[in-house]
Amino acid sequence: GTGLRIGIIGAGSAVFSMKIVSDLCKFPSLSDSHVVLMDVDRTRVENVLVLAKELTKYFNAKLKFSIVETIKNAVEGSDFVINTALAGGHGYLDLVRSIGEKHGYYRGIDAQNFNFVSDYLNLTNWNQLTLFLKIARTIEKYAPNAWYLQAANPVMEGTTLVSTQTGIKMVGFCHGHHAVEAIAKFLGVSEYEWQVGGVNHGIWLTKFRTKDGKDLYKEVEKALQKTRYEEFKPSNPFDDQLSPVAWEMYKLYGLFPIGDTVRNSTWKYHRDLQTKIKWYGAPWGGADSEIGWKWYVEELSRVVGVIDMFAKMVREGAKINELKTGTQIDDYLKEILSEKISGEQHVPFINSVVSKVPGRFVVNVLNKGKIKNLEDDVAVEICATVCGEKFEYEETHIPERVVNWYLKPRILLAKQAIDAFLNKDVRLIADILERDPRTKSTEQVEKLIAELYTVVRQEAEKVEQQE
Ligand code: NAD
Repeated sequence: GTGLRIGIIGAGSAVFSMKIVSDLCKFPSLSDSHVVLMDVDRTRVENVLVLAKELTKYFNAKLKFSIVETIKNAVEGSDFVINTALAGGHGYLDLVRSIGEKHGYYRGIDAQNFNFVSDYLNLTNWNQLTLFLKIARTIEKYAPNAWYLQAANPVMEGTTLVSTQTGIKMVGFCHGHHAVEAIAKFLGVSEYEWQVGGVNHGIWLTKFRTKDGKDLYKEVEKALQKTRYEEFKPSNPFDDQLSPVAWEMYKLYGLFPIGDTVRNSTWKYHRDLQTKIKWYGAPWGGADSEIGWKWYVEELSRVVGVIDMFAKMVREGAKINELKTGTQIDDYLKEILSEKISGEQHVPFINSVVSKVPGRFVVNVLNKGKIKNLEDDVAVEICATVCGEKFEYEETHIPERVVNWYLKPRILLAKQAIDAFLNKDVRLIADILERDPRTKSTEQVEKLIAELYTVVRQEAEKVEQQE
């Protein structure tokens, strides 16, 4: 093995941490790594520790674990630092959303054209952005050769912020591109080549063809003609890859939107609950309606409860492969215990970097000319083959329609959000709100800012004080 030290910040995110640990067990070159867990929630991280140790035994791996209290301790001596923390938790997201709604901003002020994902706040999450920068600066100081892997959202703003403000090695990861598989399955194709490109949660199917080079967009076009997508019935709030919104976006922009890109459309699909239900399907109206998001947050807290129970059972001597709930969590556990790797890219990426085994990844990195018609100083999401520290980016062509009507406005919002955050300037937030279709008066904006940014500043200050 390579004897790596891997720090995970926000390691109490049990689903994520267990996938990472399970993947580490499955790569012989990484299965003697030292995994350092850091979280502000002691109970959650201790539960993860108990389950992670048991998982390691199950796979006969040699992973070592420790819990540390501070970011510095998670970083110092590490070769890789993974950040999956959500500063303030879902409670904070709900709080800022409710203050927004109180002042007339349905789904909160962060809900904007091309940015509706409910845990992807960029205007009010000064705490989360503060945490990203704090981790990055700690890496710069105490582990300047370490890689920073960003899993926590907002990945686009986070990667842009860290990569422009510090000199550390960084990649942002998302698993959204797996949604290509849903399209292929729908079309009935099993062998195909694909490529995506754009920005995080704003990625587009830039290549889709058979192994012998036939363009599969022809099949997409045929499906468009004969599919009655208006009758789409989602199986859960996140089942939107083949929703009417996806097809409408395809018709307007000319490429198929992939993964959470479908959630990031315009107000046309998000104006109110009824509109969301019409476009994303009943009964939820997609993941980002008040109903869909409630479903998700309840699901998450159920998982936290189950993890708590599992950890208790393991402490009392149960084996990890004996744990059962009779719910969907069993499928998830089965997957973790199978030989398959999780679909999260972090561990395969680490393997490609340290073992120099070439691997194809979808990465978030500063553009710097990779996508020709987009700005240089912003993080794009793009396909790359990684081997050692060498990245070979795929030539990615995105049509002007997608660039001018979708990506550029989204990128501008990211840059404005980062500017407002770096300068802690609420006048810039007000300026964004003056262009917001929900704003009826300047007085409304002023009242909102006075109440909301008191909270925003307080929470950012807490993270600033964190060790
Ligand atoms: P969560 O509330 O469960 O938070 C994860 C952990 O972060 C918790 O254990 C919490 O205690 C910890 N934490 C909070 N503040 C911290 C701090 N200041 N320092 C250290 N740890 C801290 O949230 P979640 O639903 O698991 O989501 C975690 C993040 O991952 C979110 O940003 C979410 O948007 C993101 N996410 C990313 C992807 C992806 O593919 N990149 C997919 C899903 C979710």
